[in-house]
Amino acid sequence: MTAEDTKLMMGTVAHLTVRTDEIASQAALRDGLAVLTQTERDADGATLAAMEAAAGTGAWTEVSPALYETLRLAQEVAHRSGGAFDVTAGALTELWERARAEKLPPSAEEIAAARARVGCAALELRAVEEGGQTRYEARLMKAGMKMDRGALIKGLALDGIRSTWQNEGITNALADLGTSSILGMGVNAEGAPWQIGIRNPRGEGRADLLTVVSLSNEVLSSSGDDERFFLCEGRRYHHLIDPRTGNPAERGLASATVVLPMEGAGEWQGHMGLLSDMLSTAIFVLGAEEGRKLLADFAGARLILVGTDGQLIEE
Ligand code: ADP
Ligand code: MG
Ligand code: MG
Repeated sequence: MTAEDTKLMMGTVAHLTVRTDEIASQAALRDGLAVLTQTERDADGATLAAMEAAAGTGAWTEVSPALYETLRLAQEVAHRSGGAFDVTAGALTELWERARAEKLPPSAEEIAAARARVGCAALELRAVEEGGQTRYEARLMKAGMKMDRGALIKGLALDGIRSTWQNEGITNALADLGTSSILGMGVNAEGAPWQIGIRNPRGEGRADLLTVVSLSNEVLSSSGDDERFFLCEGRRYHHLIDPRTGNPAERGLASATVVLPMEGAGEWQGHMGLLSDMLSTAIFVLGAEEGRKLLADFAGARLILVGTDGQLIEE
């Protein structure tokens, strides 16, 4: 028995499929959708706003243990990617979002001013032991710093769905968050691994696929330059920003797709959705060569890259 539901979420259509007996399927769908709603409207948004309001003052903001862990892992990927992925990139991504609305790139001065307010080194985290309890705190060391969870929130949601479904004993299920982050547990109705098409970012619409990836107990995240962009004087300006230059990344890629085992090990255990989402953005920004090096540290990882010419880059 297969049950499915879709919901408009995080600016895309989230599609959940669960294969088990009817009652369990319906419960799993309901709980999976609840994770999405919770991730979108979570208290973390308010906490991050409080951190931003206190940025540059030296004051600490208390954060939940879960947010602390997310920020710590985000810092880890920022470090490993040499700042290509940066959860504090908000000042830059906001500037380019405004540019997209106006269809006009920002000036070099505006970019430089925003860049000065970005950098994970200025995000500080600490765990304070007090009376046998641990309190988690964070602060931003430069005034005007902004957080952006856009490059990790779908992966984070997948981790929540995976753990919810595993706790419910679900073994065969698919969670597709608008094709950019996907969890494939077990097998599909044919008893085969879930099949995920990799779109041609330079193609004609959604059905133009370059290849198909099998997912079995794996998570997949994609970052592409074709989702949000504007054209100005014949140039294409997309939404994946290289914090090191302050401009949309131009390293020859039109999309980067990362596939990871859904479980993970060590500090990444239970966070593989989050990791895949952060890595897809980081690798898009780094380009093929440095991207491969970044991914080499993670066991069982696969990479599907598409060049700006719309051709698959063979591994
Ligand atoms: P998708 O939106 O399909 O999930 P991504 O996971 O790559 O794709 O997230 C893109 C979003 O991440 C952007 O809209 C922006 O908010 C944010 N972002 C852009 N560049 C960076 C970057 N270098 N580091 C961190 N976040 C970024
Ligand atoms: Mg994403
Ligand atoms: Mg991402």
